Amino acid sequence: MSQIKITLPDGSVREFPQGVTGLQIAQSISEGLARNALSIEVNGEIRDLSRPIDGDSMIRIFTWNDKGGKLAFWHSSAHLMAEALESLYPGVKFGIGPPIENGYYYDVDLGDRPFGEDDLAALEKKMIELARANSSFVRREVSKKEAVEYFSKKQDQYKLELLDGLQDGAITFYQQGNFVDLCKGPHIPSTGAIKAVKLLNVAGAYWRGNEKNKMLTRIYGITFPKQKELDEYVHMLEEAKKRDHRKLGRELELFAFSEKVGMGLPLWLPKGTIVRERLEQFMRRAQIKAGYDAVVTPHIGGKALYVTSGHYEKYGKDSFQPIHTPDESEEFLLKPMNCPHHCEIFKVRPRSYKELPVRLAEFGTVYRYEQSGELHGLTRVRGFTQDDAHIFCRPDQVKEEFIKVIDLVFHVFNSLGFQNYTAQVSLRDPDNKTKYIGSDEAWNLAERQIQEAADERGLKTVAVKGEAAFYGPKLDFMVKDALNRQWQLGTIQVDYNLPERFELEYIGSDNQRHRPVMIHRAPFGSLERFVAVLIEHCAGNFPLWLAPEQISVLPISEKFNAYGQHVLDVLKEHDIRGTLDDRDEKIGRKIRDAEVSKVPFMLIVGEKEVAEKRISIRRHGAGDQGSVLLDDFVTTYAREFALPV
Ligand SMILES: [Zn+2]
Ligand SMILES: [Zn+2]
Repeated sequence: MSQIKITLPDGSVREFPQGVTGLQIAQSISEGLARNALSIEVNGEIRDLSRPIDGDSMIRIFTWNDKGGKLAFWHSSAHLMAEALESLYPGVKFGIGPPIENGYYYDVDLGDRPFGEDDLAALEKKMIELARANSSFVRREVSKKEAVEYFSKKQDQYKLELLDGLQDGAITFYQQGNFVDLCKGPHIPSTGAIKAVKLLNVAGAYWRGNEKNKMLTRIYGITFPKQKELDEYVHMLEEAKKRDHRKLGRELELFAFSEKVGMGLPLWLPKGTIVRERLEQFMRRAQIKAGYDAVVTPHIGGKALYVTSGHYEKYGKDSFQPIHTPDESEEFLLKPMNCPHHCEIFKVRPRSYKELPVRLAEFGTVYRYEQSGELHGLTRVRGFTQDDAHIFCRPDQVKEEFIKVIDLVFHVFNSLGFQNYTAQVSLRDPDNKTKYIGSDEAWNLAERQIQEAADERGLKTVAVKGEAAFYGPKLDFMVKDALNRQWQLGTIQVDYNLPERFELEYIGSDNQRHRPVMIHRAPFGSLERFVAVLIEHCAGNFPLWLAPEQISVLPISEKFNAYGQHVLDVLKEHDIRGTLDDRDEKIGRKIRDAEVSKVPFMLIVGEKEVAEKRISIRRHGAGDQGSVLLDDFVTTYAREFALPV
């Protein structure tokens, strides 16, 4: 038997007999790896560990810690659930059952048997029982004829419909225990690795997402290789429910929605507006320091503007429709992005290379049509405000500008307590260069400058080929919140397209006309989405400088209301925001209410405080902090009250 060369992720090459399996390779590396291996990537394709490898290959073995491992694990769990369903509900028909970001689902047709959340416990139990049987997932190539015969006999019209779209020679079955599925894999070696199962919910889903088709039952689940990991996940879900920004937004009176105003159009209430305006002040100040010029542009723009930008052609049909006026020749669009307006500002006069970069910043409100089913709290809305800016620079200035924006993004993350972040550099697909606009030379230069900028700032990045937009490479930041959930925040994008379309120019040192490079950037992204992420990250306990109500003065009885008012007045003069709770209530009740509304400082005043001109401090979540002179309170916390610098 001939030998093949296997290249490992560290670049080392080992020889194996042709037909070696991923499991055998794992065993040759270490027993531990073999025990934990779930799937293998062979020349970019994720496969079963048991599949023979026939030629020289680059491989990567996946465990639970890799995305490729989790996907195979959850895909296999979907099959396990299907096996359990078939044993509890004979004759059940199956649609599709893919892995998703957290777990998997399977769409099934149970005929006229009812199925709801109450039935999940029994299904979980059956899954555990079948997992313990430790059945292997066995892959088998079948002819289309055989596959059609199998599912005709089972009368599974969904699988037959899926088979319709498949070519002979590309059809595989996977079997574990008594269950056979039409599937291209990959799967984990056997069901025994699945130690903990949680079925999450039941929903309706039209077959193939088409509402003309039959409504199937979609069952969501998640599984883990250890019970402890499931326990942690369940805890995280409970915590996430408590922190849901829609719930906290209502309870803390930050924002609301009104049917009359329209779906997906948030109304910022007074307290939410304070948070938003503080964020704006924070960003404005940072931007002035970084050399931005603030501009303001209208909420609508003539249709021609978006024809030039290309947005009309691309999104016109699926977006808000043109606004007409009594003058029949006029048509306007609600602005879906600020960039075209800023291009027009760049063009108000000729530009020289000496004044580049030009950095135009605007808290620009934009409107994008989202289907009603897609709307979600503040994270998916139809109208939102971006902390937008466009940098018009020379091609050789991209690196320096990226460094500046990275610093700004770091400033945002550090000031708001996001400590865990990484970034992705999205590059061109080098094998498909015609997809992109802009010269080869420009792309190579910009891609190199982005990577250098990130490296110089010590930013951990992964570079992904083929992820760039057709108009330029970009850098995306991924932030992990307090519950370890990942959010994308802060994109920096190079653009060769709009400068071309708007014919932007500057006069170079050679006295010739040149095209500037345009960089789009928005560290918050949209204020709406950012506030949503922030609420969930800090569970509504905003940093002191952002808190809508920083203090609440709580007199022990009505006798001390006058002193309480005096305390409040003094603090207001120092720009500290707060209220006086002068209700005729017991102090215990006042403290409880202030705790619920997450006010950072409760300032308690009674006889002793009045006599000594002091206040007693209670901090949210930290309890009693003793009593201090009013002036000392202001100086001690001055930095925490102020915008971070
Ligand atoms: Zn499958
Ligand atoms: Zn833009």
